[in-house]
Amino acid sequence: MQNTYMQRRMAPVSDPVIDISELTRRFGATMALDSVSLAVTRGGVHGLVGANGAGKTTFIKHILGLLRAESGSVRVFGLDPVADPVSALSRIGYLSEENDLPGWMSVDQLMRYTRAFYPAWDDAYAEELRQKFTLDPAAKLGKLSKGQKARAGLLVALAYRPELLVLDEPSSGLDPIVRRDILGAVMRTIADEGRTVLFSSHLLDEVEEVADHVTMIRDGHIALSAPLDVIRESHGSLEEAFIAHVGEALDEAD
Ligand code: ATP
Repeated sequence: MQNTYMQRRMAPVSDPVIDISELTRRFGATMALDSVSLAVTRGGVHGLVGANGAGKTTFIKHILGLLRAESGSVRVFGLDPVADPVSALSRIGYLSEENDLPGWMSVDQLMRYTRAFYPAWDDAYAEELRQKFTLDPAAKLGKLSKGQKARAGLLVALAYRPELLVLDEPSSGLDPIVRRDILGAVMRTIADEGRTVLFSSHLLDEVEEVADHVTMIRDGHIALSAPLDVIRESHGSLEEAFIAHVGEALDEAD
């Protein structure tokens, strides 16, 4: 029998990294996700776009195993992230919208702490990112600005070169310099290396700039999911497609 490594190496490229089938989630009377199905294939940047409250964070929390599927199934690398969190999360890098890092730790302590959990942690890359993000290793996380905290969170999500990087509304935390000069390049590099990025956003121009594949979500439903070039070809722009399929314009205010 093949070992796990060989099975992973030999898995067909078309195997989805994320495979969600008929996922439903309610919070009291609110239907946050209503029978959502989506397969995210390996290698590329996948943008999840929708207005505030559309269900993006709830969707992402299921992928990370932070919420259990009420009904339907969630598989990441073929694994159930609730039943097998260690195997799934060791292959995922995650930057949350809240990005609640322990305030008493210094940047250096955060790096050493996170490193202990990830055998694939790359010291040289971590140091390169620390310098690129101009983070003082001695600075306490609790004293950093929101943007600096997001940089620290991104650093530790990237430094073990995860197979899947999940970013929940990175624009809401990261400052314009990192967004404009670094984030897009980081996402492209990951995709070019055959790894996968899933990021959520309420900003169409941000998604249009970097995504290969776009999923539009509205009120817990997937309104459209297609490669960006197909959407552009059929609708002219992402904005036109959003209006046609979601039925409203997005508030582009940050
Ligand atoms: P945002 O960017 O504003 O976070 P979103 O697209 O990520 O928006 P979700 O956070 O997934 O949306 O929320 C989807 C719906 O579920 C919203 O109506 C939200 O109020 C509701 N919701 C999410 N989490 C909870 C919770 N823990 N308890 C109650 N309602 C919730």
